[in-house]
Amino acid sequence: VKKRPDERLGFFDAAMSFAVSERMTLERSLRDALKVGQFELFYQPQVKLKEMRLVGAEALIRWRHPELGIIGPDKFIPVAEQTGLIVEMGRWVLESACAELRSWDKQELPPLRLGVNISGRQFHEADLADTVAGVIADSGINPRQLDLELTESMLMADGESTLRLLRQLADLGVSLSIDDFGTGYSSLAYLKRFPVNTVKIDRAFVRDLDHDEDGRVIANAIISLAHSLSLSTIAEGVETESQAALLARHGCDEIQGYLIGRPVPAADFVAFARSFNGT
Ligand code: C2E
Ligand code: CA
Ligand code: CA
Ligand code: CA
Repeated sequence: VKKRPDERLGFFDAAMSFAVSERMTLERSLRDALKVGQFELFYQPQVKLKEMRLVGAEALIRWRHPELGIIGPDKFIPVAEQTGLIVEMGRWVLESACAELRSWDKQELPPLRLGVNISGRQFHEADLADTVAGVIADSGINPRQLDLELTESMLMADGESTLRLLRQLADLGVSLSIDDFGTGYSSLAYLKRFPVNTVKIDRAFVRDLDHDEDGRVIANAIISLAHSLSLSTIAEGVETESQAALLARHGCDEIQGYLIGRPVPAADFVAFARSFNGT
């Protein structure tokens, strides 16, 4: 029997609406999780290569699900982004990160810089600079300790409005990093044009360091380019001593990765920070 086209269409429709309803269920759960406080920030250390000193951390969101345990951001950030919930979630992330900075200060850790991931949707919300300013004021942190991680795709639309927003953020005293550098459609022009401070070399290039000459050439080129524009460099996903050694030889400023430490809950990070700096 030959299938009628509309039958196939019907099946397709059903599959689609299943996906949609699943997404709506997840969206509802995410909203509830935010309300009842099931999200948590983990912290991953960042170390200055020259003196192997702890200088900062990146805040990475986790969902502590009552039945499923800890769920990583790859499972829910895309849905939060699609549904717009990311804006509220992103605000929570900013507030929590700043509260944590305050708490480190009270616990007398040396001043560290804390990186916070900003999503595309959050970046394009009209009031991001106001939100960041408000959170800084309410928390009473030193804005120099806050670093906002942006991606190349956010900066690609390099219109006047992007430049204006970046200037507003920079004027608050926070620093700006380009996350996953080299993986987007980089228009290198924006590096010079925008008030960014740091380039985060994506894990993909770091992974290649051990294996092939091309990997080394690319990492070296990114570091040289960044330095020639007076930008600082941090390599992500550093897992081996040999990667760290190669990066040090190429003059990379900082590293982040399992070699130094995995992302961990706040209390574990504080313990790590104390023992790492030998205090
Ligand atoms: P990202 O910003 O590129 O974060 C780095 C990811 O690499 C983290 O994954 C981290 O756990 C992982 N990683 C760090 N060191 C190593 C290593 O040595 N080896 C390997 N294999 N992986 C390493 P995670 O925590 O699962 O986060 C995934 C992505 O989710 C992040 O990528 C970021 O894009 C997003 N994300 C995380 N937290 C937030 C947040 O609060 N807001 C937003 N908008 N996005 C977030
Ligand atoms: Ca990041
Ligand atoms: Ca990254
Ligand atoms: Ca990444």
